[in-house]
Amino acid sequence: KLYNQVQDLKGSIRVYCRVRPFLSGQSNYLSVVDHIEEGNITVNAPSKHGKGQRSFSFNKVFGPSATQVEVFADMQPLIRSVLDGYNVCIFAYGQTGSGKTFTMSGPKELTEKSQGVNYRALGDLFLIADQRKETYRYDVSVQMIEIYNEQVRDLLVTDGTNKRYPSYSQNGLSVPDANLVSVSSTLDIINLMNLGQRNRAVGATALNDRSSRSHSCLTVHVQGRDLTSGAILRGCMHLVDLAGSERVDKSEVTGDRLKEAQHINKSLSALGDVIASLAQKNPHVPYRNSKLTQLLQDSLGGQAKTLMFVHISPEPDAIGETLSTLKFAERVA
Ligand code: ADP
Ligand code: MG
Repeated sequence: KLYNQVQDLKGSIRVYCRVRPFLSGQSNYLSVVDHIEEGNITVNAPSKHGKGQRSFSFNKVFGPSATQVEVFADMQPLIRSVLDGYNVCIFAYGQTGSGKTFTMSGPKELTEKSQGVNYRALGDLFLIADQRKETYRYDVSVQMIEIYNEQVRDLLVTDGTNKRYPSYSQNGLSVPDANLVSVSSTLDIINLMNLGQRNRAVGATALNDRSSRSHSCLTVHVQGRDLTSGAILRGCMHLVDLAGSERVDKSEVTGDRLKEAQHINKSLSALGDVIASLAQKNPHVPYRNSKLTQLLQDSLGGQAKTLMFVHISPEPDAIGETLSTLKFAERVA
């Protein structure tokens, strides 16, 4: 029965889109979004010939008024499937400021209502594990890493070192070297997320906010033991807040900033290539072209479920990036 529910997810790759609302002080703008209908979104994309529109279709489109609860509700079956032994990857993609972190973690001033997918997903895992406690015994543990300039760093260190780990993967297993922390309550999760966020801020200044130029990945490992047969099942979920997808003008940046931009471009296009070749059932999947796809190799493809969640801003000024985000999403859908 559970297997059937997972099959009902209609294929292993899904693409969602979320439009963030105007922020306070922006209320007089006209949105680039003309309308949203079911899984379709139509944006006003003026061309040099004047007014123009483009439509895109995805598995789901969330408008600016969608709540965190509504957004999460559509992801729940995916998260539940982790407890049945599936591997799941959820990616938040979009330009800086489009709402990726809001969806995955929440706003800076976090309340229970505004909690993002990361908190809700773990909350759900604990809830279902508890409902199944007569038949299964589940252990949940998490890792949190950051990929910056193609190097992997552990975000769950407590000694302030922000230790750097050798950036390789073993037998395709994700992030073998980073701290793996056992968790059993939502309070554990809140504490760990706070630790991760503090470690992520190390070395960042106001002008140099590294969080928009690195990928952060929360990996949840679930192990379940069938209490009657003793059989073990393992599932794994990666919740990834990607680096900002905006193109950087090569004529304006140099040195470290240019290197960062090139690493980001390379890894986001490598991710797009992997998901597009999985979607097309292409026998050759180019996992080895970036650290991110190498690390997630065993959770992308095969029986694994992938959700590419793209984010766009409503501002007319952002239309160039918005179109390139929507085209990226269209390509992997
Ligand atoms: P990103 O991580 O893509 O750079 P953020 O998640 O930081 O973007 O969002 C930019 C700003 O917009 C933040 O102040 C955030 O709280 C706000 N924001 C984003 N999405 C929403 C939303 N759906 N509802 C309300 N505020 C949002
Ligand atoms: Mg962010």
